[in-house]
Amino acid sequence: MPEPAPVPPAARCGTVALVGRPNVGKSTLLNALIGWRLSIAGPKPQTTRHRILGVRTCEQGQILFLDTPGLHRGGARALNRQLNRAARRAIGEADVVVQIAEAGRWTGEDEAVYEAVAESTRPRLLVLNKVDTQKDKARLLPFIADVSAAHSFGAVYLVSARRHDGLKELENGIFALLPEAPPVFGADQITDRNERFLAAELVREQVMLQLAQELPYSTAVEIEDFQDRGDRSRIEATIWVEREGQKAIVIGAGAARLKAIGMAARRAMEHLFERRVDLRLHVKVTENWSDDTGALRRFGYAE
Ligand code: GDP
Repeated sequence: MPEPAPVPPAARCGTVALVGRPNVGKSTLLNALIGWRLSIAGPKPQTTRHRILGVRTCEQGQILFLDTPGLHRGGARALNRQLNRAARRAIGEADVVVQIAEAGRWTGEDEAVYEAVAESTRPRLLVLNKVDTQKDKARLLPFIADVSAAHSFGAVYLVSARRHDGLKELENGIFALLPEAPPVFGADQITDRNERFLAAELVREQVMLQLAQELPYSTAVEIEDFQDRGDRSRIEATIWVEREGQKAIVIGAGAARLKAIGMAARRAMEHLFERRVDLRLHVKVTENWSDDTGALRRFGYAE
């Protein structure tokens, strides 16, 4: 008698709200979990109230990450006010709520996010990101004990989104909490995000990588122009900063920094888009752009 085939685990599918204050690494974590894949077709009716930001499909099933506007990009102040309604709705309706914070650091903003998270009756997980910055992991134990004692999370995961450490455990933890259900999206409904969006993210990534020390907060990148000309694309983008001093940092002495950012971003685009790219970058100052609703709308942050 041949061995009976192992019974495959029942597929699970559900929604996850990934929330956290600006700069904790939500975008980095989301990209590490889903790559650049996004749904193209409209989701089935039960999820149309939410925008799906990304989809993770594997043999265990499908995780649908809900968009929580504002929470996914840098800045505070007005951004925090904007996020409230849609983000709170996502938090209230997701099957699982994942709060992300930085390992070893719990701020007032984290506490404010937690207050919204705590209103959900769904399972909550805490992700402590950037563990790679902690040389002595044992010193995190009292921090984890304090945060766990003061808040109600089903589990705490230590991850480094940047180094892709701890992601499998987190993913397993999420799947275990999702309902048994067939996938909402078929493989043919999932595609790469559009190139305009990707181009902006690739510039933003280089700004963050090359200026992480000098510019602690996320920067906004706006694609001004994107033209396909046969075998090459011409892309013009603006890096928005809040102050003149930041502009000088991004440009660097003799524009060296901006050139390096542009070169690395262009290479990444050429690799991803599989064609030549001419990239022109500008750096502009919007005083307090995160307080300006008009600016928020222009960058696509407001509803
Ligand atoms: P968001 O504002 O929450 O979406 O945060 P981002 O994903 O934009 O990340 C904010 C900054 O933290 C960026 O400079 C990231 O490169 C950095 N970052 C994200 N994840 C990690 C990590 O695991 N380790 C370290 N050292 N830095 C990280």
